[in-house]
Amino acid sequence: MDETMTNPLLDTLELPRFGDILPDQIAPALDKVLGDHRAVVERIVATQPRSFAEAWLPLERADTAITAVWSAVSHLHGVADTPELRAAYVTGEERLVENNLEVMQNQALYAVLVALTQTTEFASLPDADRVAVDHRIRDFVLSGVALEAEDRARFAAISVELSQLSTAFGNAVLDATDAWFEHVEDAALLAGISEADTAMFADAATARGLPGWVVTLQMPSVSAVLTFAEDRGLRERVYTAYGTRASDQGPHAGQFDNSGRIASILDLRREGARLLGFTDPVAWSLATKMAPDAATVLAFLRDLGHRAKPAAIREYAELAEFAADHLGIAALQPWDMSYVSDRLRAARYAVDEQEVRAYFPVDRVIAGWQQLLDRLFGIRLIARADVPVYHPDACYYDVADEDGAIIAGVYVDLHARTGKRGGAWMAQARPRLKDGNSRRVPVAYLVCNFAPKTDGSPSLLSHKEVVTFLHETGHCLHHLFTRIDRPSIAGTNGFEWDAIELPSQLMEDFAWDRDVLNGMSGHYQTGAPLTAELFDKLLAARRFLSGMFVVRQVEFALFDLLLHLGTLGSDPMEVIEAAREAVAVVRPPAWHRFPHGFTHIFAGGYAAGYYSYLWAEVLSADGFQRFAEAGLVDRVTAATFRDEVLSRGASRPAADSFRAFRGRDADPQAILVRHGLAVHDDR
Ligand SMILES: [Zn+2]
Repeated sequence: MDETMTNPLLDTLELPRFGDILPDQIAPALDKVLGDHRAVVERIVATQPRSFAEAWLPLERADTAITAVWSAVSHLHGVADTPELRAAYVTGEERLVENNLEVMQNQALYAVLVALTQTTEFASLPDADRVAVDHRIRDFVLSGVALEAEDRARFAAISVELSQLSTAFGNAVLDATDAWFEHVEDAALLAGISEADTAMFADAATARGLPGWVVTLQMPSVSAVLTFAEDRGLRERVYTAYGTRASDQGPHAGQFDNSGRIASILDLRREGARLLGFTDPVAWSLATKMAPDAATVLAFLRDLGHRAKPAAIREYAELAEFAADHLGIAALQPWDMSYVSDRLRAARYAVDEQEVRAYFPVDRVIAGWQQLLDRLFGIRLIARADVPVYHPDACYYDVADEDGAIIAGVYVDLHARTGKRGGAWMAQARPRLKDGNSRRVPVAYLVCNFAPKTDGSPSLLSHKEVVTFLHETGHCLHHLFTRIDRPSIAGTNGFEWDAIELPSQLMEDFAWDRDVLNGMSGHYQTGAPLTAELFDKLLAARRFLSGMFVVRQVEFALFDLLLHLGTLGSDPMEVIEAAREAVAVVRPPAWHRFPHGFTHIFAGGYAAGYYSYLWAEVLSADGFQRFAEAGLVDRVTAATFRDEVLSRGASRPAADSFRAFRGRDADPQAILVRHGLAVHDDR
């Protein structure tokens, strides 16, 4: 019998048959798709085809089959996990990583694709076809496969060493975090801290066999102390221990010191960049991003810092004044910042979250969400009870265009439950595909973790959760509106990483409009929309200290970029001081060691890429401004956004798509408008 009949995971063209999928089908399904993939690669390498149909399409089809199997498995792992499923998932994930490494090191396959680009046929292919191949070749080059034997070996060794150093860096931060704690026996020391947080400290003490309370450097503990502890000495000790983790300073000076690792990581990144033909690690990082070059990013950051700094200085002065007048703090210290901020927020901008939640029962939010999508894009979501799901909370919708044609599908799964990972995310279920004469529409998963309904009330969302819901909707639309038939560059796939949050953050901003919120809110008892008073409070809270937030992000991004450029040398403390000199309004003490715990760039994927947060925010804020200028919920603007950005995916540079939508490059001023720090000037 055909395996696709017996193993539902292999039925990769139809929607996943969630009711039939079992953990023990995962390994055999992977055997099949990985085996097919290997056979395809071997055939291409052996026959050296010169046509797109023979050199590219079989590879793409084999990739798509793997993705189809794996997206169903990883979705189930994320939303309906069991011990058996997790075990199969972990093993499968390892096999996929291995397969990918093997393919990306295949020089013969790389050579076939390069030869394909030199044919006369290739020049006449549609843009998307060429871009898909070019992207793959670029990824091959970045994996070192195009290097001569000696360099290739060195590059591979560097990659391994860098990955080990990153892990060691992260572990040192974890170990330093775990190593420090303060035993508290006098309850008075914890004054100001909530009951829940105090209970957390009591648990930490019990876990160590101690009476009283234990304050640790875990994030919830640090944040509780720095934000709420009235005892200034306790705040200072926690701030000091936290800010010197894994360094040559502080209570565990030298014990987990990341100084040497930072130096080695920088050296290896520089060497790796040079081997690949880049001037420095920044150019290496930007090779796959929207930002064109280091000079542009530097100018962007300096300009943004310059624009935001006056607001940051005003906010700092407001904090200092409030601290002196109301809290008896004559000179603000870094360990006072969160505490004073929270007091000022409570005094001037307090929002009662429970009160706000009452206005956002989930059914009302979903109805308003459907209305918003209809008003903006002319699409309707039609619930399909006949499509199998894995839990009663999940629902599948057909996405119908204005003319009634079904153009996409989306699984919406909104509530927290056992076996479901926390957070919110979008993932792809099926790509848009041409299959003979029939078309397959793109399908996405939209997952959130809202509180389930209780006996007394429906599921009530916080405003922040409404924002999150629209954020993930933006990612979904990117996938659902694609018109690109090459899955590797459709929707969010292959889209420049520093622009990927453009659709999501742009959609988020609709949750900050009064009229849109009127449509998405309705008190669960009275049906009344969110009051103007609550809305104004939410808005004020959103804008609270946002100038200081922006300059801090600029400081980190500048540090990351300057350090990887190497123009100011390799001493991280000298470089961060230079970054602070340019933008900071809060100067940590000389012994503070921010770089030593900066896992984003030394143990995460943000090396020479931290600027992406701000870069994407400028794009989304400026994109949203175009909607605002046209009256916000505007069909023409939405259609242009869909045509010029969402539907194109990575088939052309994001910069071109943005320009086509906006009529010009992004204006950094938009970020200040978004944060309420400037009025928008219409030019
Ligand atoms: Zn996002």
